[in-house]
Amino acid sequence: MGHFDRRGPELHAEQVSLTRIAADVGTPCYVYSRAAIEENWRQFNAAFGDYPHRVCYAVKANSNLAILNLLARLGSGFDIVSGGELERVLRVGGDPRNIVFSGVGKSEWEIRRALDVGIGCFDVESTAELRLVNSTAASLDTAAPVAIRVNPDVDADTHPYIATGLNQAKFGIALEQALDAYRLAAEMRHVSVLGVACHIGSQITELAPFEDALERLLRLVEDLEETGIPIEHVDVGGGLGVRYRDEQPPSAREYVSALIEGMCKRGFDLPITIEPGRSIVGSAGVMLTRVEYVKRTPVKQFAVVDAGMNDLIRPALYAAWHDILPVALSATGSTQRYDVVGPVCETADVLGQDRVLDVAQGDLLAVCTVGAYGWVLSSNYNSRPRPAEVMVDGDQFYLIRNRETMDEMCAAESILPE
Ligand SMILES: *Cc1c(COP(=O)(O)O)cnc(C)c1O
Repeated sequence: MGHFDRRGPELHAEQVSLTRIAADVGTPCYVYSRAAIEENWRQFNAAFGDYPHRVCYAVKANSNLAILNLLARLGSGFDIVSGGELERVLRVGGDPRNIVFSGVGKSEWEIRRALDVGIGCFDVESTAELRLVNSTAASLDTAAPVAIRVNPDVDADTHPYIATGLNQAKFGIALEQALDAYRLAAEMRHVSVLGVACHIGSQITELAPFEDALERLLRLVEDLEETGIPIEHVDVGGGLGVRYRDEQPPSAREYVSALIEGMCKRGFDLPITIEPGRSIVGSAGVMLTRVEYVKRTPVKQFAVVDAGMNDLIRPALYAAWHDILPVALSATGSTQRYDVVGPVCETADVLGQDRVLDVAQGDLLAVCTVGAYGWVLSSNYNSRPRPAEVMVDGDQFYLIRNRETMDEMCAAESILPE
């Protein structure tokens, strides 16, 4: 875990005891390490050396303003998928010119706003979208910078974890239709073609799918150049995996080296954009939760905790594994098997199955590697206020989102008149 280590019996985030944070802000809460986030980002950036590049953090992985602001201070670019994400990036001082806008369903108002603020690139995913981007740019008397996101159809048999880069996916424009889409774009008066883009999926733990996708992209770039459509950058998306249990994902350095090598092998030295999300924030967060009850049935033992699937949906949604650790090691050391479950009225509300733990009522647990796709996927299901978020920085910690209050939870709703 790196920035989440035990000091004596007590789990810490950097220099701060997690027990102390839980006592201060309550549970459930998410705790992030500033050093971990910054180190992860810097590793990607440094791996490029002098090679021209842009690291655009994928905002959807964790969009807390404090995190976006820290990354903006490092000079990060941002990959956004909505007008809401655009506003967040702008509010923390992110440079619009370093924003790429992805997503299959951009609305007209989102395109207009992005053009207004001067974003760096639209990653266009259909010819219908291309037309709307062109007409919106025309109405603003400007030209929209675009890349076309192609779907490289990377072979699922050999790389079973890829979800978005297959030809059945809703994402991107099929490789065989890409040339026509580029010809259409090149003829448009209010579109300026800058790049090619792809994003083949998430939690990818091998290099081969990335290498295959890049090679297919570069073959397209060659065809485009022959057609007289020059390309200025290649965006290879995000998707590098993290270690949740026993995965061995490539390091940022190995990943970036493979991309640069792939470029050179085909005789290119085009600037590379990457859009890592999970691999920047995933390992940088834990969720603290308290054991409310220990419950024994004739066939099972449950540790019922105060965080549920509304707070962290990954186990219920993806059958995802997250390590669950006691925050303080007990002296007894007598472990048993528990299903760690939340209070939500769904059988799927399980954080971890068959976990070997030494727990008692009132104990604190840390659910690990939840910095990505954790809080952002939380909801108010069962009318549970969303959890607090804390950022640790050395021996200090800061509340970066307060626990939602009952008033906040109800604020947007109203009842009918008498
Ligand atoms: C989700 C997404 C990313 C980030 O993916 P990670 O697996 O979190 O790195 C990058 N680019 C696009 C277009 C995405 O949709």
